[in-house]
Amino acid sequence: MSRFEPNLRIPGPTALPPSVREAGGRQMVNHRGDEFRAMLRRVEAGMKPYFGTEHEVILLTCAGTGALEAAVVNVLSPGDPVLSVSMGAFGDRFAKVAEVYGAAVTRLEVEWGEAAVASDVRVAAAAIPGLRAVLLTHNETSTGVTNRIGELAAAIREVAPDALLLVDAISALGAVPFAMDEWGLDLVVTGSQKAWMAAPGMAMAAVGPRAWAAAESARMPRFYLDLKRHRDSAVNGETPWTPAVAVLYQIDEGLRLMQAEGDGVFARHEACANMVRAGLRALGFALLAGDSVASRTVTAARVPEGLDWKSFNAEVKARGLVLAGGQGKLKGKIFRVGHLGSVTTDDVLAAIGVLEEVAILQGLEVQPGVAVTAAQRALVATRTRQAVPA
Ligand SMILES: *Cc1c(COP(=O)(O)O)cnc(C)c1O
Repeated sequence: MSRFEPNLRIPGPTALPPSVREAGGRQMVNHRGDEFRAMLRRVEAGMKPYFGTEHEVILLTCAGTGALEAAVVNVLSPGDPVLSVSMGAFGDRFAKVAEVYGAAVTRLEVEWGEAAVASDVRVAAAAIPGLRAVLLTHNETSTGVTNRIGELAAAIREVAPDALLLVDAISALGAVPFAMDEWGLDLVVTGSQKAWMAAPGMAMAAVGPRAWAAAESARMPRFYLDLKRHRDSAVNGETPWTPAVAVLYQIDEGLRLMQAEGDGVFARHEACANMVRAGLRALGFALLAGDSVASRTVTAARVPEGLDWKSFNAEVKARGLVLAGGQGKLKGKIFRVGHLGSVTTDDVLAAIGVLEEVAILQGLEVQPGVAVTAAQRALVATRTRQAVPA
């Protein structure tokens, strides 16, 4: 036993801070009562700065995938020409949702491990007559790559100014700065169990005026995920259906913690990401994403030739460290370290320490201490840089 609680280093669900756990255990309230109304309004308002929006933030009771579905069905009609820019498993899922509901989806496939290139996206968008929407992934959780959404949005606008920009920002929103309104995005979604330090069960969708206008004529079927119904209820501080009240308690408390930490939230995620990358590299693991496109919330590393991943991971797990495997075509080829939400630099140092110990026990040529030292150096270098005003 090396820990009394697992070091849950997967990219969601993320570990809950003690006060968030306690919030989830609170007694129920009337979801048509004043206490709930105040909480819903507080959470909606509290979310806006993280989206970088002045527009409505809608709270949905569903998994993140439900919010992707909401994004599609509320603004599109069957047959609408849609461009999907996918760089991994979650981008593919977004495209699939649009296809299932009858959109005419053209796929721009980005190599897994790379970010979308603005000029490629511009060319792909220009080639689709009457382009209605573009599906973008902010942070591809299956590869640990973050797109420069602002640049992609600007490139699309040049050739398709009327196309709606729908963004899956599920796994990094809250952990990194984001500017929905400045970038001209129309619909952006996230989920409670990623950077928000809450349990799974709710998703948040920020909806801009062009998306609301599109919803007036969109003909894809919808009922439970109808955003207009949610907006109408939200005016009264309510949700149209019974929400996941306990999860909302947790989001409320998670937001309170984030607000108290201020910009420290972003700095902490940057430090943790740099530590993970330095530590894994020191162990000889090749990282999937290059530094310039690396995610600050999840890191993917290749399983080296000759390393028995199953036995490696079993030893890691026995020491209380929980990692994520690869998804889709990367299954068995990579592993992923989640560093989002309530993650601390201590959690990351401990994780790197475990990986180092197991790597040595499994026969990798590693000097004891190199990975922990590399992570610690990355921490100090990042903190030093952050302390210098830009
Ligand atoms: C987690 C995740 C999803 C899916 O969320 P669920 O809650 O599992 O449905 C979608 N997109 C991205 C980028 C994610 O990280």
